[in-house]
Amino acid sequence: MNVIFIGPPGSGKGTMAARIVKRYEMMHISTGDMLRENMRAGTDLGKLAQGYIDKGQLVPDAVIIGMVEKKLLESYGGALFDGFPRTESQATALLKITDIDAVIELEAPLELVTARMLTRKVCRKCGKVFSTKLYKDNFCDECGGELYHRSDDEIETIKARYMVYLETLGNIKKVFEERHLLYTVDADDTVDSIEKKITEILDRKLV
Ligand code: AMP
Repeated sequence: MNVIFIGPPGSGKGTMAARIVKRYEMMHISTGDMLRENMRAGTDLGKLAQGYIDKGQLVPDAVIIGMVEKKLLESYGGALFDGFPRTESQATALLKITDIDAVIELEAPLELVTARMLTRKVCRKCGKVFSTKLYKDNFCDECGGELYHRSDDEIETIKARYMVYLETLGNIKKVFEERHLLYTVDADDTVDSIEKKITEILDRKLV
């Protein structure tokens, strides 16, 4: 099964993806994580991405599509795409490379995602997301990696990222609506409730 998560930054895509890939044994393909790995490693791709990410802008389609194509060569079983596609041309490119079974849209207003992102920390090693309101430690409870606050999780960049998301959302949704693949889930809920709503959708795809 191949699934896409779309949703504004801070809507819980990463948190949900971690749970869903475990449950259905899928490969987690997060373009944001892949770009951050490249930035940490100081690759040419990372250096190019940094400028866009710091401004809350999208990295060019050709770079992203090439990166995902390469990743899919090592894919096994199903894949969960998190933060990709973010433009109509990424969406159509993906549909040419692979079949998609469901697209889950996590819907969340700007006020909610801003509050979440200003208080979120991410594990440097495994990417697990924490809220500093609920988790006081500086190290990941799964892998022991150090937690950090993302440099693009600042108020102005959050707003810019949200606006960029809204600009492209309509076109992306149209691509998947036409194929009857789109399911919208209210992300202003508890993690467990959101997971339940998503698994109900995905379980129906498996029968
Ligand atoms: P994320 O971790 O998904 O919030 O992504 C962080 C940043 O990486 C975004 O604000 C973009 O600058 C860049 N990025 C991640 N995924 C994509 C994508 N599919 N297309 C273009 N830029 C992306």
